[in-house]
Amino acid sequence: MERYEKVRSEICEVCRLLYDRGYVVSNDGNVSVRVAPDQVLITPSGVGKGRMEPDMLVLCDLEGNILDGDRYPSSESKMHLMVYRERSDVMSVVHAHPPLSTAFAICRRPLKERYLAEMVVGLGEIPVTEFAMLSTEEVPNSVKPFVHDHNAVLLANHGALAWGPTLLSAFDRLETVEQTAKVFYYVERIGGGVEITQEQADTLRAKAGMYAKLAGKREG
Ligand code: 13P
Ligand code: ZN
Repeated sequence: MERYEKVRSEICEVCRLLYDRGYVVSNDGNVSVRVAPDQVLITPSGVGKGRMEPDMLVLCDLEGNILDGDRYPSSESKMHLMVYRERSDVMSVVHAHPPLSTAFAICRRPLKERYLAEMVVGLGEIPVTEFAMLSTEEVPNSVKPFVHDHNAVLLANHGALAWGPTLLSAFDRLETVEQTAKVFYYVERIGGGVEITQEQADTLRAKAGMYAKLAGKREG
């Protein structure tokens, strides 16, 4: 039996979701999960996410040394590993090229207006990184300034990246980035929106704990 069988199949499920939702085509995107404090399972380079198989995944340490698997790890492994090294609370990183997020990343347009109440209390502002040459150290370096205070970024002229405490939370955040980009696009096409006030935003942020509690099992 393969090591980390369940996680492998969950990663393949998320890869398929990314493809089915139109966030990736061809070999776009990559997905990883931390399976031990210093070990990560990551998608291999060059494989379509719609046809990812559990035995294709690569096990690496946080320095990028390959521990298991007969494929090359994602060409953007450095970006994933930097997030795990910087954030011990992060268990998953998801990268894709969703069309509207990528368009905003090309326009170097952060998603920062206080248009969506859910976004104010949830993901917060989504910044745009500096342009970074694909697959080089420039990519993690471009994300690093945002890694502690954000949970998602737009990668300039490239795509979107999100991270979280579980695989599904990282996927959900990536999906929220794309949905937010879509709403912002409509708002701008309609002629511009009205932001909620700073005070309303502060009141919303103070409710974060309540929403976290509601998302868990009922007490008593
Ligand atoms: P990989 O197939 O090497 O993971 O690359 C996909 C990608 O999105 C590069 O930015
Ligand atoms: Zn990419």
